[in-house]
Amino acid sequence: MTIDSFLPPHRTLMGPGPSDISPRVLQALSRPTIGHLDPLFIGMMDELKQLLKYAFQTENAFTIAVSAPGSAGMEACFTNLIEPGDKVLVCRNGVFGERMRENVVRAGGVPVVVDDPWGAPVCVEKVAQALEAESDIKLLAFVHAETSTGALSDAKALGALAQKHDVLTIVDAVTSLGGVPLKVDEWQLDAVYSGSQKCLSCVPGLSPLTFSAKAVEKIQSRQTPIRSWFLDQSLVLGYWSGEGKRSYHHTAPVNSLYALHEALLLLKQEGLENAWQRHRDMHEELKSGLEKLGFRFVVEEAHRLPQLNAIYVPEGVDEASIRRQLLEQYNLEIGAGLGDLAGKAWRIGLMGYGARKENIALCLQALQTSLL
Ligand SMILES: *Cc1c(COP(=O)(O)O)cnc(C)c1O
Repeated sequence: MTIDSFLPPHRTLMGPGPSDISPRVLQALSRPTIGHLDPLFIGMMDELKQLLKYAFQTENAFTIAVSAPGSAGMEACFTNLIEPGDKVLVCRNGVFGERMRENVVRAGGVPVVVDDPWGAPVCVEKVAQALEAESDIKLLAFVHAETSTGALSDAKALGALAQKHDVLTIVDAVTSLGGVPLKVDEWQLDAVYSGSQKCLSCVPGLSPLTFSAKAVEKIQSRQTPIRSWFLDQSLVLGYWSGEGKRSYHHTAPVNSLYALHEALLLLKQEGLENAWQRHRDMHEELKSGLEKLGFRFVVEEAHRLPQLNAIYVPEGVDEASIRRQLLEQYNLEIGAGLGDLAGKAWRIGLMGYGARKENIALCLQALQTSLL
């Protein structure tokens, strides 16, 4: 048997991530690798931090990219901020809220769960009641953009509630960053993590992360050591902010960081507000096309994510065979339903570079033809 180079086809990625990547980002990825302690690389890292602060709308000094996918950013927040016995209020309205609960347990915390139906946003009123009822809650964890259902929760209102009760927030912004408004400082959010491969349209494998001064204080005043060595952010800090005395923690994913730098530069050049508006405009266009084809959305209009459109599969249609047909005949990937929505819904992503008219036209045409 001979093994040849792997040459993937050009797919159009309209699932829940990874999303389509701009040629500019792919070019950045293939530039020469340099040492991760090279002064030029360190200069690039400093710019990358500035660009991340812009994307998150924060002045937090601790703003970095974890060298691993969004799930590692999630785990970094929970392992660093929770000490054994800490009570954590977890909002669960989809797959990722449940993962947050699991993270609380594994970090030795005590989860208190507020459930909402799949497809609904987190109910702010229920969270308020839970915070009133349990006085010793230390943290509030919620998913801003629930990718498993396409529902957007009110991070601003939840952040304000947390402030009022003096609890820290852990916010999953994996799918929201770059796609819908997210204002870390204005909304007073404490630990916010994201992913490179959703609305930032970069390669998978990096997790932008920002901690407020209060979150850093909580980490620094821990009574017990953080159980994970790799994700211990107090160790990582020496690498990202050593100011002239950077030290080795782990080998940075050099080329992936070039790609993230380029992806964030694209976002800066477009302007965050313009990127948010483009996602809304493209969502409107996709929505009107889907409605003409008779599709119904899973999430009510007021709470819909523009970058993730969950629609019900028509009665009597074998959803997996349609997705296979889209992939084989149109090189088009859309997402299947997850959890409660498995077999019942499709998830159409309009993320970052993928939120474009050409993609919408292809998707509508491919769905219409395949369903006939
Ligand atoms: C994709 C996603 C994650 C996990 O990110 P990975 O990069 O796949 O590890 C976490 N939370 C949400 C809301 C996501 O959409």
